[in-house]
Amino acid sequence: MCIRRLSQASYLQKAWRAVLLRHTCSRQPGTQRWTHSAGGSYRAVIFDMGGVLIPSPGRVAAEWELRNHVPSGTILKALSEGGEHGPWMSFMRGERTTEDFLQEFGRLCSEISKTSVPVDSFFSLLTSEQVAKQFPVMTEAISQIRAKGLKTAVLSNNFCLPSGKSFLPLDRKQFDVVVESCLEGICKPDPRIYQLCLARLGLQPSESVFLDDLGQNLKAAANLGIHTIKVDDPEAAVKELETLLGFPLHVGVPNTCPVRKSMEIPKDALQKYLKDLLGTQTAGPLELLQFDHGQSNPTYYIRLGNHQLVLRKKPPGTLLPSAHAVEREFRVMKALASAGVPVPNVLDLCEDSSVIGTPFYLMEYCPGLIYKDPSLPGLEPSQRRAIYTAMNRVLCKIHSVDLHTAGLADYGKRGDYIPRQVKTWTKQYRAAETSTIPAMERLIQWLPLHLPRQQRTTVVHGDFRLDNLLFHPEKAEVLAVLDWELSTLGDPLADVAYSCLAHYLPGSFPMLRGVSGHDLTQLGIPTAEEYFSTYCLHMGIPPIENWNFYMAFSFFRVAAILQGVYKRSLTGQASSAMAAQSGKLTEFISNLAWEFAIKEGFRVFKEMPAAKPLTRSYHMWAGPQPRLSPTGTRGYSSGPEASPARASKGTLVISPEGLSPPVRELYHQLRRFMEQHVYPLEPELQRHQASEGRWSPSPLIEDLKEKAKAEGLWNLFLPLEADPEKKYGAGLTNMEYAHLCEVMGMSLYAPEVFNCSAPDTGNMELLVRYGSEEQKARWLTPLLEGRARSCFAMTEPQVASSDATNIEASIREEDGFYVIHGHKWWISGILDPRCQLCVFMGKTDPQAPRHQQQSMLLVPMDTPGIKVVRPLTVYGLEDAPGGHGEVRFEHVRVPKENMVLGPGRGFEIAQGRLGPGRIHHCMRLIGFSERALALMKARVKSRVAFGKPLVEQGTVLADIAQSRVEIEQTRLLVLKAAHLMDVVGNKAAALDIAMIKMVAPSMACRVIDRAIQAFGAAGLSGDYPLAQFFAWARALRFADGPDEVHRATVAKLELKHRT
Ligand SMILES: Cc1cc2nc3c(=O)[nH]c(=O)nc-3n(C[C@H](O)[C@H](O)[C@H](O)COP(=O)(O)OP(=O)(O)OC[C@H]3O[C@@H](n4cnc5c(N)ncnc54)[C@H](O)[C@@H]3O)c2cc1C
Repeated sequence: MCIRRLSQASYLQKAWRAVLLRHTCSRQPGTQRWTHSAGGSYRAVIFDMGGVLIPSPGRVAAEWELRNHVPSGTILKALSEGGEHGPWMSFMRGERTTEDFLQEFGRLCSEISKTSVPVDSFFSLLTSEQVAKQFPVMTEAISQIRAKGLKTAVLSNNFCLPSGKSFLPLDRKQFDVVVESCLEGICKPDPRIYQLCLARLGLQPSESVFLDDLGQNLKAAANLGIHTIKVDDPEAAVKELETLLGFPLHVGVPNTCPVRKSMEIPKDALQKYLKDLLGTQTAGPLELLQFDHGQSNPTYYIRLGNHQLVLRKKPPGTLLPSAHAVEREFRVMKALASAGVPVPNVLDLCEDSSVIGTPFYLMEYCPGLIYKDPSLPGLEPSQRRAIYTAMNRVLCKIHSVDLHTAGLADYGKRGDYIPRQVKTWTKQYRAAETSTIPAMERLIQWLPLHLPRQQRTTVVHGDFRLDNLLFHPEKAEVLAVLDWELSTLGDPLADVAYSCLAHYLPGSFPMLRGVSGHDLTQLGIPTAEEYFSTYCLHMGIPPIENWNFYMAFSFFRVAAILQGVYKRSLTGQASSAMAAQSGKLTEFISNLAWEFAIKEGFRVFKEMPAAKPLTRSYHMWAGPQPRLSPTGTRGYSSGPEASPARASKGTLVISPEGLSPPVRELYHQLRRFMEQHVYPLEPELQRHQASEGRWSPSPLIEDLKEKAKAEGLWNLFLPLEADPEKKYGAGLTNMEYAHLCEVMGMSLYAPEVFNCSAPDTGNMELLVRYGSEEQKARWLTPLLEGRARSCFAMTEPQVASSDATNIEASIREEDGFYVIHGHKWWISGILDPRCQLCVFMGKTDPQAPRHQQQSMLLVPMDTPGIKVVRPLTVYGLEDAPGGHGEVRFEHVRVPKENMVLGPGRGFEIAQGRLGPGRIHHCMRLIGFSERALALMKARVKSRVAFGKPLVEQGTVLADIAQSRVEIEQTRLLVLKAAHLMDVVGNKAAALDIAMIKMVAPSMACRVIDRAIQAFGAAGLSGDYPLAQFFAWARALRFADGPDEVHRATVAKLELKHRT
């Protein structure tokens, strides 16, 4: 319900709220609130009160006489009776008490009308809040005048009320000077009172304009040299003043349009209703406008006589029972107003659908200032801080409302607010889902596992942010909190977090503007952490430790809402361009949410049941029916079988037997394939690599590829997280793939057989994650089919490439193409005749920030200008047919559409590409090591030296033990890293990825080296795979970035996150 209501109401830009923006939008660029600058030839505007700022006594009297059957004109005649010395004027000079005056005034009225006149009732009406209210057009004009730096004054003939206070129903803060006749003892048109006013303003008569409705008062002013404007109709007077001052005073109602045809409401019925409701001051036509947002909850601006109102109604048609609950909004605002929370003054709830077709409620138009831009441009740092403090305080006020006293104890369910919200928004998201968003998937798993314990239940606003607050134009005071549509009873910390969303969003974010990227300290804006602690301080509660959870939840909720808006745009229900954009924004927001989840941490491992650990042991040839194979098959002699249900994405499975049945079957199928087809062909494949034809692919490999593909043992590497719909790969998780990849690692030839070899795997993942549809069609498809191969060109001989920001190759725009120049080396796979694509990393903008200089370009290998200088060797091995080439790129012209993601995004892509791709090497290294250990064990059992088998030598036993332990340790770390990548994403798993990259190659080197040692000189020969294994394991201490770089990462993260 909520999401529908929200999305239909354009949620993020509520129409009824826009009503209240009126005064916000009237600010002129360059003007500063709270400071006035001089301008123009006039320096002040002086206003009379009755008849100018508020209705004149004459007008009030005319209406009152009509209603009370008093002869028309009686009141006015009585008021002017006696002129300067009559009761009215002496009352206004403060010479008479109210009682005195009313007595005399009543007598006069009765005399004139020849009937008894209840003057008390007239006086009450004249001074009532309902009538004595400033004309909105004047309020607006005054704020414009002051914004331009001119002064304002009120010069009023007024009187004292029975309370002794003077009658001045105006906000005094609008005026620099207030001159009241009853306090000064002088009345207009006495020139002295004008002079007093001018003196207080510090101005000459010619520097001011005076507005009054009475000719004699104007004349006196004009005689002094003051410019005057006669006020018959406030609107017309403001127009005249506007012309005189030379700047606009009336800015209209922003974001409104004429009422749309389908949204029309019966004006006559509404006008009648309003007249009955409001009573007086309802003369004149009804002005009705509609706000251009809020299609589902139509919202109208109303002007009738002296009233400016906002009407919010349910949409027409059949509605879900709890949707569009305008009654709730009305109820909560009314209750909160009584509890002292600043909210718009609600006037009436009309549940009778017969009036305008649906229930609606009315509230007063509330002038004030809304800060749409949370960076608060144009304000001083101290003013910004004050605004944020006021925002914080008002939130505390809402959260401090006593539910019972306010009558809101049943306004929502108590407790379990966050669990309910997580469920609701997950459901809403699922209903609106259009494609799988990995971060949303993770959040949907993570949030329920990390729910906080709700400490308090209070009224929660549900959409509390700066632009839902109406501020006093001249000081940091919240006049009204708007938009209560999502309010309920709940966990107040959700509101606190939600009000900090802007801290993490860029200023350019289309729907919710933010301040991320700004220097908040310099701006004077409290950081989110400061904001949270100020809240705690105000509320007298301990610091919130899990506020990252609340932030993650808040962003999750926004992401779900945006997805709803997007879905509706697809089905044509939401038509704005913004709605169509919201799909992309969902992903952005969900990634932000996920970053908070990462900061909050993970309870995943704490949740794992300790009672039934999944164990396995790797006793080579030690199982009940040992099987000899070139790999030294692993037997699983101990450890309970995990139930298939446990082998879910959220579970770390450390034994292949714990995998889900289909994956387990795939694992065993792979092992069978290796034993039946791959190991037996190794000698032949090795011979091919030493032959003259080695730079052409072996036909044996091509045969094996077809077989593997036919068996479904194909493209197993693409992580489910990158390919959730299994469009491109087998849909294994990283953790599942780790078990299978280890098996593939047991033969140097195997990965290609299953289309799982580097660097193609990394490149394919790059295309899946970041490639455009055209790029995918051209490059990804042939790679996935195993028809083509690819390479990745980053490393350069002339610079230390372990630091990728050093690379120098240039990518420049020229005649609608990108032209590249550069010298690269160690480009694996580039010599393969099937290599069709080079993913090239170069600099597009050397002046940009350090990590935005690089870009990635897809370079077809047949582009002129690519020159392979030579194949490099690793310990003399060429690694044909792919090899590792030193290459020059000279004036290589590439179409612009071959850029991946866009210029400057190279680093970002490299980070994404090298996540899973790199850990695959680690998985394979476990395979190398297992096979080396298996070979070693076989060898030492059969080889006799100094009278006994080698296996009986203590040092050999120690070596075997050491190797077993090291393999086990490393495997566990590999599986943990893979598992974390699945459940928390590559970024959050950064530490574990770096750890495993630091550990695996060295471990493999040690294990293989021990095996070589046990083999004697044979270990170095080509008769066994050990020498090759060693060479590659050693090379991998660079190929994935040098060990030192990974160590530095581990240390950095250790120091940053673990105190
Ligand atoms: C077999 C193989 C295949 C490869 N395939 C590719 C490929 O396909 N595409 C590609 O672009 N590149 C490839 N490379 C290159 C590889 O990525 C680089 O060798 C690696 O990034 C290191 O860069 P470098 O050789 O320039 O060493 P340098 O950056 O010059 O570093 C030299 C040494 O400096 C030390 N060092 C560096 N940084 C630190 C630090 N932070 N703290 C302490 N010491 C440090 C280390 O000991 C390091 O070994 C491959 C390399 C090999 C061996």
